[in-house]
Amino acid sequence: MDRKGLILNFRWLTLLLSAGLLELSGGGLLTDGVVVAALTLMLFSNLGLHLMPTPLFRYRPHWFGLTLADVLLVSAVVQRLGVLQGEAFFLYLPVIGLSACIHGQRGLAGTVAAVAAVYGGMAWGSGVVMASEASRGLLFRTAMLAVMGAAFGLMALRVRLQVVGQQLAEARRRDLEAVVRAAHRLATAGTQSELLSLLVRSTAELVTAYRCSVVVLQEAGEASILVSREMLALEEHAATHTLRIHTSDYPELTTAVAARSLLRIPDVQRHRVTRGVRGKLADLGIRSLLVAPLAVDDPVLGTLVLSLAKRRGPFTERDGNVVDLIANVAGTALKNTYIRETLEAERHSLHRMAITDSLTGLYNRRFFDMRLEEESRLAVRHGLPLSLVLLDVDHFKRVNDTHGHGVGDRVLAELARVIGANLRQTDCFARYGGEEFVILMPLTDPEGAVAKAEEIRLAVKEATHRVDDGMMRVTVSFGVSGFEPGQTASPVDLLSLADRAVYAAKRGGRDRVCRADPPSAPALSSQAQTSQSQLDQSRPDPPQTGQSRSADPPSSRVSG
Ligand code: GH3
Ligand code: MG
Ligand code: MG
Repeated sequence: MDRKGLILNFRWLTLLLSAGLLELSGGGLLTDGVVVAALTLMLFSNLGLHLMPTPLFRYRPHWFGLTLADVLLVSAVVQRLGVLQGEAFFLYLPVIGLSACIHGQRGLAGTVAAVAAVYGGMAWGSGVVMASEASRGLLFRTAMLAVMGAAFGLMALRVRLQVVGQQLAEARRRDLEAVVRAAHRLATAGTQSELLSLLVRSTAELVTAYRCSVVVLQEAGEASILVSREMLALEEHAATHTLRIHTSDYPELTTAVAARSLLRIPDVQRHRVTRGVRGKLADLGIRSLLVAPLAVDDPVLGTLVLSLAKRRGPFTERDGNVVDLIANVAGTALKNTYIRETLEAERHSLHRMAITDSLTGLYNRRFFDMRLEEESRLAVRHGLPLSLVLLDVDHFKRVNDTHGHGVGDRVLAELARVIGANLRQTDCFARYGGEEFVILMPLTDPEGAVAKAEEIRLAVKEATHRVDDGMMRVTVSFGVSGFEPGQTASPVDLLSLADRAVYAAKRGGRDRVCRADPPSAPALSSQAQTSQSQLDQSRPDPPQTGQSRSADPPSSRVSG
């Protein structure tokens, strides 16, 4: 039975008992105008209460008013009866006591008990004065009735406590269910910013608040609002925007963080923490505040706080409990996303380290070999062109010998940038060894690759490098291999052909592009045959002979 049911049933009981008492006392009291008016009032008010919506029974002023009206009504009836010195009065006591208990006004119950004690004392006193056999009997009976009344009252109190307890447990169960649902949602968040947005949304759903935000405290009295309901409303700013604030304007934040616990300020105008900012809060129309540290006090994440502001009405203890629970859950979830994101970043950086060259930041040979394998398989299967350009810096040993290894390293890194700036996103550019680079160009036939290599050659030649005593330029020799649609070659073939072409370029005088023969051309032209045999001779690098010089590649394959 809920509170409304209890109150109504009890009032019907009071009405019946009062009518019964009147009937018992005789003397035509049911025809007395005042008594009949009082009972009729109670009857109609009861009927009216039936129509009253249940939520209105939550408010204490309503119970108080109702109880007061009941006490006055029944007192008036009893007074009219004139039976205060008789048994009837002691029947009246439990009725009033029970009414007060059920209505939940402990203060009123006390008042009623006191009034009853005075009337009871008067009744008892008159009995003693009479000191007759009859009055002693009356005294005994009235005492019995009083004991029964007290037992009746206690029983009613227990019922009431049970009802209130049940209601509290039910409300708490509903809150817990909602928090568990929110926790479930928070646990599914992939990133920190997603989690913070979810946290703000879930909290705003559970606790009515004018403002709800997550703030991170920084040093030097500054803080940033990472996410708030208003920001989420402007969807596009949700992930990117943070607002800077001064903590001196938000003393509740620093206090809650220092205490590492929930801070609930029911009324900002009366709380000592908000003493310095009462005016500002009043201007903003903020009445109550709730702040919960997010149990994450990480040097990287910073100190996060969940902060809520209410426009009207105070945050209740229940609001505080809910926010405290959700802040705890969010703190743990936040730590998890942080660990996950850190691990992911570390894994990513390890992967990068495994595939890149630390000096130039380019892909390393291992990664290049893998890509070459993949791309040539794809190109052969789908009949697509593919080209490979191998580059070797000319006379690089001299750079080291003249300016030192440090300058040599820097020049290599600068060359990597100059070359990279001339490439397409789909090209795979790697450092192949010491001062050798390699570029894989998918969907590019060797002619296109030669043109691109020529472009790069000029760019490299133009680029200047700072050395101790001024500027320096370097040149690069290029070897291009590749196949056109319909042709095939293994990755090893492509590399060794390009390598030979580089040597041909070196032999040709360096600073030039040399193209190797198509790998599986059915018949080589006489010109190509010449150059092919020349390439064959070029590895290992023999001392420069008159023959090799005379057999320099024809201009059609060597440009620049
Ligand atoms: P060329 O290729 O034109 O025939 O002459 P080269 O002097 O470039 O050829 P060689 O192969 O004789 O020398 C390559 C030099 O590159 C030798 C080595 O000291 C230098 N080298 C290789 N790797 C690095 C590096 O990572 N940093 C520096 N500073 N030098 C490097
Ligand atoms: Mg070399
Ligand atoms: Mg070299």
